[in-house]
Amino acid sequence: MKILIDNGHGVDTKGKRSPDGRLLEYAENRLLAGRIVSALKAQGHDAELLVPEDNDVSLFQRCDRVNRFCYALGKENVILVSIHCNAAGKGDRWYNATGWCAYTTPKDTPADRLATCLYNAAQIHIPDQRLRMDLTDGDPDIEASFYLLRHTSCPAVLTENLFMDNQADVEYLLSDIGQTNLVNLHVTGINFYLGIH
Ligand SMILES: [Zn+2]
Repeated sequence: MKILIDNGHGVDTKGKRSPDGRLLEYAENRLLAGRIVSALKAQGHDAELLVPEDNDVSLFQRCDRVNRFCYALGKENVILVSIHCNAAGKGDRWYNATGWCAYTTPKDTPADRLATCLYNAAQIHIPDQRLRMDLTDGDPDIEASFYLLRHTSCPAVLTENLFMDNQADVEYLLSDIGQTNLVNLHVTGINFYLGIH
């Protein structure tokens, strides 16, 4: 299984930071994504960063990179997880919204199982954090037509790793223990998806 980890925005993406400027989303995403890939590789998985660059690589280009792997290897032999931090506002002030969640495209797709595996891992690794869920369709993931999810042919999930405009979340995201827990969440969830417990 080719495991692709996307780290979202680039250094040149506007906004996307905590109100105090201590947390930059592109940097947090890259830190988590890099550590997830390293941990998966250390376990012998075929994992790689979708965007090794620091600059913003367009969604079109990122989808093209994913779909080239799908074409070469078969879409059932590729998975994509895109790492993000959520925000309630536009970085103007602190908000109260908190929690972790995973998004998939609407309707039943193989990505739903990947998202459920990530939620199961979240219950293990971040038990003190709120899990934001939409249980109305029988699974925990939240459905949204994000470009990266809609235009890639393999199972694809986008995770929002707490809120960069919630003060407690930012402390957690900048802490070694918080980062380690979020990395382990993704590594364990991907292993669950691959049938490794
Ligand atoms: Zn983002």
